[in-house]
Amino acid sequence: MAVLRAGRSVSAPILRVAVPGPLTRLFDYLPPVESADSPAPPVPGTRVLVPFGRSRRVAVVVQWGERSDVAPQRLRPIERALEASPALPHDLMALAEWAAGYYHHPLGEVLSAMLPAALRRPDPPDTEEPPRWRLTAAGRDTCAAGIAGAPVQQRLLTFIGAHPEGVDQSALKTLSDRYHAPLRTLQAKALVEPAPREPIAATTRSGPALHDAQSRAVTAIADTLGVFAPFLLHGVTGSGKTEVYLSLIATVLAQGRQALVLVPEIGLTPQLLARFGERLATPVALLHSGLTDRERLAAWRRAASGEAGVVLGTRSAVFAPLPALGLIIVDEEHDPSLKQQEGFRYHARDLAVIRAQRAAVPVVLGSATPSLETLSNARRGAYATVELDERAGGAKPPRLELVDVRRRRAREGLSIPLIESMQAELDSGGQVLLFLNRRGWAPTLICDDCGWTAECSRCDARMTVHRRKGRLRCHHCGADAPEPTACADCASEALVHLGQGTERVEEALAEQFPAVETIRIDRDSTRRRGALDAKLKRVRSGEAGILLGTQMLAKGHDFPGVTLVGVLDADRGLFGADFRSAEHLAQTVLQVAGRAGRGERPGRVLIQTRNPEHPLLQALIAQGYGQVAASLLEERAEAGFPPAAHMALIRAEAPHAEAPEQCLAAAREQLEAAGVVGVEVFGPAPAPLERIAGRYRAQLALQAPTRAPLHAALRQLRPWLEEAKPARRVRWSIDVDPVDLT
Ligand code: ADP
Ligand code: ZN
Ligand code: ZN
Repeated sequence: MAVLRAGRSVSAPILRVAVPGPLTRLFDYLPPVESADSPAPPVPGTRVLVPFGRSRRVAVVVQWGERSDVAPQRLRPIERALEASPALPHDLMALAEWAAGYYHHPLGEVLSAMLPAALRRPDPPDTEEPPRWRLTAAGRDTCAAGIAGAPVQQRLLTFIGAHPEGVDQSALKTLSDRYHAPLRTLQAKALVEPAPREPIAATTRSGPALHDAQSRAVTAIADTLGVFAPFLLHGVTGSGKTEVYLSLIATVLAQGRQALVLVPEIGLTPQLLARFGERLATPVALLHSGLTDRERLAAWRRAASGEAGVVLGTRSAVFAPLPALGLIIVDEEHDPSLKQQEGFRYHARDLAVIRAQRAAVPVVLGSATPSLETLSNARRGAYATVELDERAGGAKPPRLELVDVRRRRAREGLSIPLIESMQAELDSGGQVLLFLNRRGWAPTLICDDCGWTAECSRCDARMTVHRRKGRLRCHHCGADAPEPTACADCASEALVHLGQGTERVEEALAEQFPAVETIRIDRDSTRRRGALDAKLKRVRSGEAGILLGTQMLAKGHDFPGVTLVGVLDADRGLFGADFRSAEHLAQTVLQVAGRAGRGERPGRVLIQTRNPEHPLLQALIAQGYGQVAASLLEERAEAGFPPAAHMALIRAEAPHAEAPEQCLAAAREQLEAAGVVGVEVFGPAPAPLERIAGRYRAQLALQAPTRAPLHAALRQLRPWLEEAKPARRVRWSIDVDPVDLT
């Protein structure tokens, strides 16, 4: 079926639309009932409101067709087009269709994931920029004199007066929730007036002169502008990758084109945003999950209009509309959070490469610890590699050492050698970063008399003690209960907190180093909007001597004052169930280590372990990431795991244990009956964590040396899953290139 584009008119075509939902097929509609203001039927990419069963849905026109298999009397017209020109331009529609095919996911769901949430509803809000305000001459006089009896007005005047260039109205919220009326009064008294919207900073600061390796990287990549060229930018932490990005983006902007920059974490965006803002003369549209729907829509529109020269965002920003796309950058490309783990399970890095290919632009995958997938693509020549081997500005690489905690008794997770090194480091004015990937007080509550442990009633997992709140919490399903005072089995009151979480270590640090401020960064301590930023500022200002946190800390942040890093527990990653555990441990340790000694003083990294002889840890301290990764790649090839093979996982879950395995066993039979060749099928087997939130989970793994037979098998399986009886009793999903096997 040919797709007809805007401009060509056909008399009363059939509109094939994608409706969000579990079914792969498209649905046929007639154009809206003819009216004066909608002369032509909506073109592909346009959002439309359609009657669907007994409800109405926001759907997207995918194609025009000439006839339908649906009986004419049953065809219904769409209710109305929701916009005059399509929200999704042709390139995004094509990317969506590609992704729906690759991930074996319904196009309607893919398109819905692409759209900002506000556009999944019929009538999106207006996203006009908020007004800006400044003081009038009279306002400046009044501000100095003071307004008696009107404290909010006074505060507004003082605040606005502190910003002669003007203040966004939205910023006034922070002063008072009820600023509207006082602001109107001030305007009525002619004390404040609308300020002109600032043009983009005309003067930008120039960066440091690039060192040789950076210049070579920039030249190699910039030479490919205008054609598809994938690059692995492999640069140790602090080697100046961001400077390379900035230089490339400036070149792209100068050509009148846009750049798309993906990062794994929202936490990283403020830092990068500030750096981009002072260096690039263009608005930067920020897209991440921390925004309100309206803010997100506004940013999306600034990207779509071409006003924003740079789009900076997390995973889903890979779908941002960029009419003049010239370059894509994926920073920290190894990070698992670039993979969506539910619903439409896409990998933003992989889609970035596909998008770059279709748009004929270069794509740069940057990391100090590249994923084995990307390294293997680079090795076989599919990606060009550019390396930055040295830290910028002459900083030395950190030194890694293992601390055997079997022999040295640890106090609340802190060994004597670590405590002594911390003391020395703090005494000489350095900062210390401690990494512990476990939030809460203690991971286990155990009865000293009978050995009972507090478990989640809905998951195969223990409850974590959050002592300060007096609660037990399940980190898998969110279950929350008061901490018991007696054992549920034997009623003994001898309950013990076993193991350490960040809260507990924080308290131990306060005892051990009473004069030093510790900043704890984990999901609990940064829930409030702006909290993470405030904490990071305190660390960077040097006021806090110790920084303690979970993996939130391992990513991309730059702490020049940190000279000592402690990895409190390296062992959990050594024996993980997942074939990627070793890779992730190596990446995490080196990423955390990379936070140390970025300034003038060299850094030291102490890794606490009970397995100091473990080959992976030995390799990590003795060799660089390149060698460690090379041997991991060999292991994968021997075991036949990705990237040496391609994998897909069929997952099924249900409130009863049998249904998921029965469904997957039937799926397996289905594949065998269909005579699928060239694909190995493993399972069904219970998921490593079988029960989460009261649901039993099982999986079937499909693996093949090349992609074609794997996709052929999935194409067989998907329609069966949509129809078959055993599949109706479970919630199932297809995960292509799974990252997390739990
Ligand atoms: P990465 O992104 O690889 O971690 P950055 O680009 O953030 O590295 O650079 C690390 C630090 O080195 C930053 O403080 C940056 O300003 C500085 N830097 C980068 N390139 C240079 C250079 N060519 N000369 C001097 N300092 C540099
Ligand atoms: Zn007991
Ligand atoms: Zn639970």
